[in-house]
Amino acid sequence: MCVFCKIINNEIPCYKVYEDDQVIAFLDISQVTHGHTLVIPKKHYENIFVLDEAIAGELYKAVVKVSNILKKGLNLTDLNIINNNGPVAGQTVNHYHIHLVPRYPDDGVSFFIPPIEVNHDKLANLLEQILNNQ
Ligand code: 5GP
Ligand code: ZN
Repeated sequence: MCVFCKIINNEIPCYKVYEDDQVIAFLDISQVTHGHTLVIPKKHYENIFVLDEAIAGELYKAVVKVSNILKKGLNLTDLNIINNNGPVAGQTVNHYHIHLVPRYPDDGVSFFIPPIEVNHDKLANLLEQILNNQ
Protein backbone atom coordinates (compact mmCIF):
# COMPACT_ATOMS: atom_id res chain seq x y z
CA MET A 1 0.00 0.00 0.00
CA CYS A 2 1.36 3.45 -0.87
CA VAL A 3 2.23 6.05 1.76
CA PHE A 4 -0.77 8.26 0.93
CA CYS A 5 -3.17 5.28 1.09
CA LYS A 6 -1.71 4.60 4.56
CA ILE A 7 -2.48 8.20 5.54
CA ILE A 8 -6.05 7.80 4.26
CA ASN A 9 -6.36 4.54 6.26
CA ASN A 10 -5.06 6.30 9.39
CA GLU A 11 -2.03 4.02 9.49
CA ILE A 12 0.26 7.05 9.22
CA PRO A 13 -0.68 10.35 10.92
CA CYS A 14 -1.06 13.58 9.02
CA TYR A 15 -1.92 17.22 9.70
CA LYS A 16 -5.31 17.30 8.01
CA VAL A 17 -6.45 20.61 6.50
CA TYR A 18 -9.62 19.37 4.77
CA GLU A 19 -11.60 16.19 4.12
CA ASP A 20 -14.75 15.21 2.25
CA ASP A 21 -16.13 11.93 0.85
CA GLN A 22 -13.61 11.63 -1.97
CA VAL A 23 -10.76 13.98 -1.12
CA ILE A 24 -8.33 14.70 1.70
CA ALA A 25 -5.81 17.54 2.10
CA PHE A 26 -2.92 17.60 4.55
CA LEU A 27 0.30 19.49 5.19
CA ASP A 28 3.26 18.24 3.19
CA ILE A 29 5.81 16.70 5.53
CA SER A 30 8.51 18.66 3.73
CA GLN A 31 7.30 22.27 3.62
CA VAL A 32 8.55 24.07 0.50
CA THR A 33 6.93 27.19 1.95
CA HIS A 34 4.87 27.89 5.07
CA GLY A 35 1.52 26.12 4.52
CA HIS A 36 2.57 23.75 1.68
CA THR A 37 -0.40 21.37 1.38
CA LEU A 38 -1.21 18.26 -0.67
CA VAL A 39 -4.71 17.60 -2.02
CA ILE A 40 -5.32 13.95 -3.00
CA PRO A 41 -8.18 11.66 -4.00
CA LYS A 42 -8.96 9.04 -1.37
CA LYS A 43 -8.96 6.40 -4.08
CA HIS A 44 -5.51 5.45 -5.39
CA TYR A 45 -4.76 6.68 -8.92
CA GLU A 46 -1.15 6.66 -9.97
CA ASN A 47 -1.12 9.79 -12.11
CA ILE A 48 -3.12 12.16 -14.34
CA PHE A 49 -3.22 9.64 -17.20
CA VAL A 50 -5.37 7.19 -15.22
CA LEU A 51 -7.28 9.65 -13.04
CA ASP A 52 -11.05 9.26 -13.24
CA GLU A 53 -12.55 12.45 -14.75
CA ALA A 54 -15.41 12.65 -12.25
CA ILE A 55 -12.92 12.34 -9.38
CA ALA A 56 -10.80 15.02 -11.04
CA GLY A 57 -13.81 17.33 -10.88
CA GLU A 58 -14.33 16.67 -7.17
CA LEU A 59 -10.60 17.00 -6.56
CA TYR A 60 -10.40 20.41 -8.19
CA LYS A 61 -13.44 21.64 -6.28
CA ALA A 62 -11.51 20.70 -3.15
CA VAL A 63 -8.41 22.49 -4.49
CA VAL A 64 -10.46 25.70 -4.68
CA LYS A 65 -11.80 25.15 -1.16
CA VAL A 66 -8.39 24.35 0.34
CA SER A 67 -6.78 27.30 -1.47
CA ASN A 68 -9.27 29.58 0.24
CA ILE A 69 -8.79 27.86 3.61
CA LEU A 70 -5.05 28.56 3.29
CA LYS A 71 -5.70 32.09 2.03
CA LYS A 72 -7.82 32.88 5.06
CA GLY A 73 -5.73 30.95 7.58
CA LEU A 74 -2.40 32.35 6.48
CA ASN A 75 -3.55 35.69 5.05
CA LEU A 76 -2.19 34.69 1.61
CA THR A 77 -2.34 36.56 -1.64
CA ASP A 78 -0.19 34.25 -3.81
CA LEU A 79 -0.17 30.49 -4.41
CA ASN A 80 1.34 28.01 -6.89
CA ILE A 81 -0.58 24.85 -7.80
CA ILE A 82 1.72 22.06 -8.98
CA ASN A 83 1.23 18.45 -10.03
CA ASN A 84 4.06 16.11 -11.03
CA ASN A 85 3.35 13.03 -13.18
CA GLY A 86 6.08 10.43 -13.65
CA PRO A 87 9.66 10.33 -12.33
CA VAL A 88 11.10 12.62 -15.01
CA ALA A 89 8.50 15.20 -13.96
CA GLY A 90 9.56 14.82 -10.33
CA GLN A 91 6.80 12.52 -9.02
CA THR A 92 8.09 10.60 -5.99
CA VAL A 93 4.80 9.34 -4.51
CA ASN A 94 2.77 7.30 -7.00
CA HIS A 95 -0.62 8.39 -5.68
CA TYR A 96 -1.99 11.36 -7.63
CA HIS A 97 -1.62 14.59 -5.66
CA ILE A 98 -1.79 18.33 -6.17
CA HIS A 99 0.65 20.60 -4.35
CA LEU A 100 -0.62 23.93 -3.05
CA VAL A 101 2.44 26.08 -2.42
CA PRO A 102 1.74 29.43 -0.77
CA ARG A 103 4.08 32.15 -2.01
CA TYR A 104 5.57 35.00 -0.06
CA PRO A 105 7.74 37.91 -1.16
CA ASP A 106 11.41 36.87 -1.10
CA ASP A 107 10.59 33.22 -0.21
CA GLY A 108 13.51 32.12 -2.40
CA VAL A 109 11.41 29.57 -4.35
CA SER A 110 11.86 29.54 -8.13
CA PHE A 111 10.05 27.54 -10.80
CA PHE A 112 12.00 28.97 -13.76
CA ILE A 113 11.55 26.72 -16.82
CA PRO A 114 13.73 27.68 -19.80
CA PRO A 115 11.67 27.80 -23.03
CA ILE A 116 12.80 25.94 -26.16
CA GLU A 117 12.95 27.88 -29.42
CA VAL A 118 9.89 27.53 -31.69
CA ASN A 119 8.48 29.13 -34.82
CA HIS A 120 5.25 28.89 -36.81
CA ASP A 121 6.30 25.72 -38.73
CA LYS A 122 7.47 23.94 -35.62
CA LEU A 123 4.22 24.73 -33.81
CA ALA A 124 2.13 23.60 -36.81
CA ASN A 125 4.08 20.30 -37.06
CA LEU A 126 3.81 19.79 -33.33
CA LEU A 127 0.06 20.24 -33.36
CA GLU A 128 -0.26 17.86 -36.35
CA GLN A 129 1.77 15.21 -34.50
CA ILE A 130 -0.36 15.56 -31.37
CA LEU A 131 -3.71 15.42 -33.14
CA ASN A 132 -2.76 12.72 -35.68
CA ASN A 133 -1.78 10.33 -32.93
CA GLN A 134 -5.19 10.29 -31.22
P1 5GP B 1 5.97 14.56 -5.54
O1 5GP B 1 7.46 14.77 -5.60
O2 5GP B 1 5.59 13.12 -5.78
O3 5GP B 1 5.21 15.52 -6.44
O4 5GP B 1 5.54 14.97 -4.07
C1 5GP B 1 5.44 14.06 -3.03
C2 5GP B 1 5.33 14.86 -1.76
O5 5GP B 1 4.86 14.02 -0.72
C3 5GP B 1 6.67 15.45 -1.29
O6 5GP B 1 6.56 16.87 -1.25
C4 5GP B 1 6.86 14.83 0.10
O7 5GP B 1 7.40 15.75 1.03
C5 5GP B 1 5.46 14.42 0.47
N1 5GP B 1 5.42 13.28 1.37
C6 5GP B 1 6.05 12.08 1.22
N2 5GP B 1 5.76 11.25 2.24
C7 5GP B 1 4.92 11.94 3.06
C8 5GP B 1 4.27 11.59 4.29
O8 5GP B 1 4.40 10.51 4.84
N3 5GP B 1 3.47 12.55 4.83
C9 5GP B 1 3.29 13.78 4.25
N4 5GP B 1 2.49 14.65 4.87
N5 5GP B 1 3.88 14.13 3.10
C10 5GP B 1 4.70 13.21 2.51
ZN1 ZN C 1 -2.21 5.26 -2.72
